[in-house]
Amino acid sequence: MSESKEEQGPMVPGDKAQPGAENAGEDLCPTCGGTGRYRGEECENCGGSGRVWVPVGTP
Ligand SMILES: [Zn+2]
Repeated sequence: MSESKEEQGPMVPGDKAQPGAENAGEDLCPTCGGTGRYRGEECENCGGSGRVWVPVGTP
């Protein structure tokens, strides 16, 4: 079996909202500042993407 989904992967520790959700938006990862790397290694907070999902639409 070889499923190759181009969708968002599983949530990463930095995600505060469901990836792809209507009320969620991407923001720069506060840990790595959007670089995807932290202290010479892949940022664990964002999984190396440099972005995390956060809730949006709140006043
Ligand atoms: Zn990060």
